[in-house]
Amino acid sequence: MTKVTVLGAAGGIGQPLSLLLKMSPYVSRLALYDLRLAPGVARDLSHINTNSKCTGYDKDELREALDGAHIVVIPAGVPRKPGMTRDDLFKINAGIVANLVSATAKYAPSARILVISNPVNSTVPVACETLKKMGVFQPGKVMGVTTLDVVRAQTFLSDSLGADHYSRESMKRHVTVVGGHSGTTIVPIVTDPKLRSKLVSRRLYDSYIHRVQFGGDEVVEAKQGAGSATLSMALAGFQFVDQILRSIHLEKPDVAPLPAFVYLPGIEGGKELQSKLNTRAEYFAAPVELLRGDVVKIDSQWLEKLGDLEKKSLAVCLGELDTNIQKGRRFVQSKL
Ligand code: ADP
Repeated sequence: MTKVTVLGAAGGIGQPLSLLLKMSPYVSRLALYDLRLAPGVARDLSHINTNSKCTGYDKDELREALDGAHIVVIPAGVPRKPGMTRDDLFKINAGIVANLVSATAKYAPSARILVISNPVNSTVPVACETLKKMGVFQPGKVMGVTTLDVVRAQTFLSDSLGADHYSRESMKRHVTVVGGHSGTTIVPIVTDPKLRSKLVSRRLYDSYIHRVQFGGDEVVEAKQGAGSATLSMALAGFQFVDQILRSIHLEKPDVAPLPAFVYLPGIEGGKELQSKLNTRAEYFAAPVELLRGDVVKIDSQWLEKLGDLEKKSLAVCLGELDTNIQKGRRFVQSKL
């Protein structure tokens, strides 16, 4: 019996993510919560002939939605409106994440918390600092979902090298993404040296990394400002939840370990990675090892095999990442 709760389930990401979760054989109860429309979305999904039971919860039913959840996924937030700065957006989403995470700590204390709400580089520190303040922080249970960067990195590598010879599916084994989850903090790593040297020798690295780092803008532009990446994000978010679900059910993952944006000092291998990177950034995304759905170890093997251009991109990432992290930390600390 595994209960998954989606907070922000009626939104652009929340709805397709909930649909994918309704299809999962590992989910027995699917709880959908939003400030609006969650019971309607849940009623729609509840007609689908898969075994899980899908229930929707209204604004004042957060406790019931969370009660007994094993996994809580948070895509809740607000989109940026005209006249709103990135900072305004950060403050609103940080407040939403802090509230939802503290409710999760109260009503589903053993749940894994998967943060999708942007900016992840800051909202994950908000989540962790909130839990620290409550005295209930379990570092292995809080993960920022960065899988969309991995999905894009694989797709765009295939596009760059020529999809006729380098299929998208085959790229799954050869690319991962480390660092953070916005702009230049996103660092795709081509783990196959042959593919990496092709990218470099054909002078494709710069355009490739730029497309991975700013892929979100491509979607916003194509949707003519009326929306951002929701469908690809939902699929990527589902792939990550699926890895957690498989781990809870003691199944082997069907893809290479995915990265997650986590609190390094609380996880095995985290402090070691921090010192190898020579950074004071305490949060970082890298492939993680899971045990029963919790992060138990962070991988740093990728670090030994970086190409020169990847090393440079990583240095740029580290320069910016800590500023984003401190912003999240300060948000919670200033509310003392
Ligand atoms: P996205 O494209 O990122 O999914 P949307 O605005 O479409 O953005 O969806 C975000 C969803 O989050 C909306 O349905 C909104 O009602 C919901 N939401 C906002 N604040 C909260 C909150 N505090 N609790 C639950 N859901 C929330």
